Amino acid sequence: MRPTILVTGGAGYIGSHVTLALRDQDWPVLVVDNLESGQVDLVPDGAEFVNADCGDADRMRALFAKHQVHAVIHLAASTLVPESVADPMKYYLNNTVNTASLIESCIRSNVGMFIYSSTAAVYGTAEGSACVSEEEPPRPLTPYGKSKLMGEEMLADAASAYPFRYIVLRYFNVAGADPAGRSGQPNPDATHLISVACQTAAGARASMEIYGTDYDTPDGTCVRDYVHVSDVADAHTAALEHLMRGAESGVFNCGYGLGHSVLDVIAAARLVSGADICVREASRRPGDVPELVCSAQRIQDKLGWSPKHDQLSTIVRTAYEWESRQRDGKM
Ligand code: UDP
Repeated sequence: MRPTILVTGGAGYIGSHVTLALRDQDWPVLVVDNLESGQVDLVPDGAEFVNADCGDADRMRALFAKHQVHAVIHLAASTLVPESVADPMKYYLNNTVNTASLIESCIRSNVGMFIYSSTAAVYGTAEGSACVSEEEPPRPLTPYGKSKLMGEEMLADAASAYPFRYIVLRYFNVAGADPAGRSGQPNPDATHLISVACQTAAGARASMEIYGTDYDTPDGTCVRDYVHVSDVADAHTAALEHLMRGAESGVFNCGYGLGHSVLDVIAAARLVSGADICVREASRRPGDVPELVCSAQRIQDKLGWSPKHDQLSTIVRTAYEWESRQRDGKM
């Protein structure tokens, strides 16, 4: 019998896919989620669910003991950049303070392995380079990026001081849905491009906007590294196996190193859906950088992560299928 893995945020979009990947490999999983943005019906079959806040140290230590937790995968977080600018203290509490508390709970309970979801937002604008490697000095521009980077720094200090190892995964633009249809992005008011394009294609929105067509990029729209959520989930199981083998702590980009423009995404959504997505050109969205693509070498070399869904058409098709089913369910 494999030991139990505790997943915070396992009722959320990425966390539910991580839980699916763990369950598909027969790991016993305990999901801890306060359902602030998660949904209990996204918790995969076979995972145990506890409605709790991962910053509640007494509760977490009791759960670690009761379930003999071996490792923690910490995804629970607030993740909206504009909201973090408007309400920074929410981000420092939900992200930084809760992460500090959770790390401390782990150390006191002798849970010595930790996988942390971080973000490309820690890089800021990555001046001078559109293709960012983990060597790039982090310079987060927003409270969201800063709140996440502080979590990374605490992990590094904890690992120097205690018998504790960690993996940081810096996600690029996570999108798509479980190819078997078991989970997907749950928010009907999503702001991320692929969700917006697929909701428009599925008829849940009348039209969508392109934020800026005059960037210094090949077609004038912004370029991003879109990564399928099931590949992101597999990065967590690869990170877990890496730690289980006794490997040292590390920081890894989680993206493909492939750039796609906003127009590429809309073309893919039109193709997979057959819908004539109504698009309006709008002004630039504050804070957007023209291009953000990762160097994906380290995660492939060291964690042996080999993506299975790295075609843009696959990412968009799985997202569209999920959004269509959500729409059908409401009609
Ligand atoms: N975008 C857009 N229309 C939308 C949503 C996003 O043109 O309705 C653009 C956005 O300006 C950015 C890119 O798509 O250039 C990716 O944005 P998203 O919010 O998905 O991710 P981000 O890179 O900001 O984390």
